[in-house]
Amino acid sequence: MAQPPASTLPVDPAPVRRSLSPRAAAGVALAVLAMLALTVAVLRLVERAAHREAATAVTQRAQTAAQFNVATLRRDLEKHRALPFVLAQDPDLKTALATADPQRLAALNGKLEALAAGTGASVIYAVDRRGLAVASSNWRGPDSFVGENYAFRPYYQGAMARGAAEHFALGTISRRPGLYLSHRIDDAGGHPVGVVVVKVEFFGLEQDWAHLAEPVFVTNSDGVVLLASEPGWRFRSLVPLGEAAAEQLRRSLQFGDATFAALPIRPFSATAGAAPARRPPASGDEMRADVPGHPAGDSYIHVALPVPSTHWTFHLLAPSREERAGIAARMQAQALVVLLLAYVAMATAVYARRRLRRHNAQQAAIRAELTARVQARTAELQAANDQLRAEMEERRQAELRLHAAQEELVQANKLTFLGQIAAGVAHEINQPVAAIRSYADNAGSYLERDETEGARSSLARIGALTERIGAITGQLRAFARKGSGAREPTPVDDAIEGALLLLGPRLRTQTVALVRSGDKGLRVQAERLRLEQVLVNLLQNALDAVAGRDDAQIDIATHADDARVRIEIADNGPGIAPEIAERLFTPFSTSKPEGMGLGLVISRDIVADFGGTLDTRPGSESGGGAVFTITLNSA
Ligand code: ADP
Repeated sequence: MAQPPASTLPVDPAPVRRSLSPRAAAGVALAVLAMLALTVAVLRLVERAAHREAATAVTQRAQTAAQFNVATLRRDLEKHRALPFVLAQDPDLKTALATADPQRLAALNGKLEALAAGTGASVIYAVDRRGLAVASSNWRGPDSFVGENYAFRPYYQGAMARGAAEHFALGTISRRPGLYLSHRIDDAGGHPVGVVVVKVEFFGLEQDWAHLAEPVFVTNSDGVVLLASEPGWRFRSLVPLGEAAAEQLRRSLQFGDATFAALPIRPFSATAGAAPARRPPASGDEMRADVPGHPAGDSYIHVALPVPSTHWTFHLLAPSREERAGIAARMQAQALVVLLLAYVAMATAVYARRRLRRHNAQQAAIRAELTARVQARTAELQAANDQLRAEMEERRQAELRLHAAQEELVQANKLTFLGQIAAGVAHEINQPVAAIRSYADNAGSYLERDETEGARSSLARIGALTERIGAITGQLRAFARKGSGAREPTPVDDAIEGALLLLGPRLRTQTVALVRSGDKGLRVQAERLRLEQVLVNLLQNALDAVAGRDDAQIDIATHADDARVRIEIADNGPGIAPEIAERLFTPFSTSKPEGMGLGLVISRDIVADFGGTLDTRPGSESGGGAVFTITLNSA
């Protein structure tokens, strides 16, 4: 049977494609593009969210800062507001104004000077009924107000009309802006005698503001900047003023010759050159502004708060760019990390899926290969099995044929013997038959003579002779029969005697010394007739071997050891011819002209049938010849 080719399982079958197919490469490129697009979109969204978050945070801070500044401004205002009110009750002031006494006015000058220095007011002065300044804290200086007419000033007119007024304006003499707080002064009869005016300047406050990080400014109800941390922004307007309104303001001299140019502030989305917005920005709006000392067009959150007790609005521009950039950077970094993790997870998942698919394909290939091999192997085994079965059947048939042939050969051999033996036996029987005849004649004669004793003796001899004849024929009959195949305890001596009896005629014609030795009364597992056949065979061969010798001798020895019995038949003939020795027990090996070369084959077969062996060896060195040994199981 052909050996199947040795092979190993395909642990890593079909070289796995390490490089990408064009389709897969296109897929990867598409995925990378999609990831890039998604990243850009997410970063944009995040930037917008960061913008909103920054705006909220900055607005909150700006709101707090604005509230604080408004409170400070208001405290400042309240502090100065009390002064004109108190002065309006001052009897010295009333008298001086009522009398217009130069001495009293001179004294009033000193008093006002001291008061201004003490309260931090810029100037305090008294105006008479006609609007002429009669006493002033700055009476000493070259820019003394004494003698100036302020009748056109709204704070004079307001105080005269309503008792008190406030007005922010540029000083006509000092050219310095400030808030004019005025109060009417009445005499004892309730008639107005003049107005006391306190001018408050916010120079210090503005200087403080200049140190703030955020530009701040205060606008009046027209949107004109009154106070500002940026000196250049003063008297500019939040939204462009109409030409008529601007002209009216110019004429009032409230702000000198200011042009009311719009502040450099524009909505966040407006481009650099765009026209200023018409609408004032709302609180919380993000704006772009050109603030000196800062990048042009930088972004700011605009916060506006009303200043209580005035018509003013406090504005604060909180820089938002850095905050926005910071928050955007942080949020974008976080988004990038998340995106990156997501991409890595996606890529890992895709890779894992690809690997799983590849693995499954490999497994499927291995399974398919295995299945194919198993099928091939099964087919081979099946074929081998069929062949084996056919061979077995053939062998069985051959054995049957052989067996039948052997049986036939045994039978043929026996018949051959019978032929030979029959001649001898005929001769053997002839004698007793002739003797019986003469004894019968004798018995007749005795009976005629009434010699019963003689007749009985003759008849007894006849009986003995027939017994002998019966024994001979019985042997022959038994010999001609096929063996039954049954094994039974068989006496060795009986078998030897039976064989010798069969060979009797030949033994008598051939001169040979038969020597029987060894143990007697042994029993073996055999079939009597067939054992006899074997012995006859061996003895005939021995007789053939010693034929013609003067000192011809055949030894029959029987020995028992343990569970075996040995029957040795030795002769002093020429021994086994060398050309025969090699194939002694094979059929048709013969050195005799009439020989069949079957005797030994059949004998060995029969002995083997009994569970024994038949072997040969050369005889003793001195005697020569051959020795045949039958070994059988003792019974
Ligand atoms: P056959 O007697 O018909 O030749 P056998 O099988 O009985 O067949 O014997 C085969 C041959 O073995 C004989 O021809 C003879 O050459 C040889 N042989 C057998 N027995 C003896 C013996 N006792 N001495 C010498 N040769 C023998």
